Amino acid sequence: MATKLGVILATALLVAAPQSARGQDHSAATNQAVSDNCARSAFRVVVDVGHTLDVPGAMSARGVPEYTFNLQLAREVKQALVDSGFEQTVLLITGTAPWRGLFERAARANAMHADLFISIHHDSVPDNLKQIWEYAGQKNEYNDAYPGYALFISNDNADRAGSLLFGSMLGHELERRSLHYTPHYTLALMGHRRRILVDADAGVYRYDQLIVLRATKMPALLLEAGSIVNRQEELELATPERRAMTAAAIAAAVANFCAARARSPVVKAAVSGH
Ligand SMILES: [Zn+2]
Repeated sequence: MATKLGVILATALLVAAPQSARGQDHSAATNQAVSDNCARSAFRVVVDVGHTLDVPGAMSARGVPEYTFNLQLAREVKQALVDSGFEQTVLLITGTAPWRGLFERAARANAMHADLFISIHHDSVPDNLKQIWEYAGQKNEYNDAYPGYALFISNDNADRAGSLLFGSMLGHELERRSLHYTPHYTLALMGHRRRILVDADAGVYRYDQLIVLRATKMPALLLEAGSIVNRQEELELATPERRAMTAAAIAAAVANFCAARARSPVVKAAVSGH
């Protein structure tokens, strides 16, 4: 009886040993499955802060520039990634105005041999869809019709399959946290800003022309984290809770993506069943 138990224990230890060793390697990492071969410490994510201090992008319903929202969220995204073991993550802040600045972002990510590029933005609407209201004694523009995040990939990116895979993974992580994408990019009223929805569950659109997506050599995605011209969503986007939710979704999606990329085609086929 005792011998039999000893054999069972020894067998259990032999089986458990590689798993616990791997767990110790990633003691700072969260939620890493034992079957996951992603080398988080070697996987480099570039988190691009959309726009510049001088050319700050859209203006919120209460007069706060988009760049302020982008910088704050991108910093928290970087921290969430570092905390989950992606210690090579780089926060990309660019001072050069477009168009030169946009090529510079891609060139810097390419030179760093990044594995994944994520550009952080906050959304607005075309000028003809904006209405006027007064806030704090100032006339501001708003549009309350289209709250939600949106994800963009380019089919001109060097790794379009990887870009779509990551976009789908991120959309699912956002939706799991009760954040919903805006479908309005498919509407005719968007004019030349109208986009094709390539993943209708995750909210991934095609935007081939975006320079930071087409000039990067690694999978690349642009996130519009929500609409800052929407008067309600602007307030939510300014809260630590909303930022933490988005950052956690990105960290989870990056972990899933890294694991998917680390899987051999044979293992991948066995897991997915086809
Ligand atoms: Zn933007």
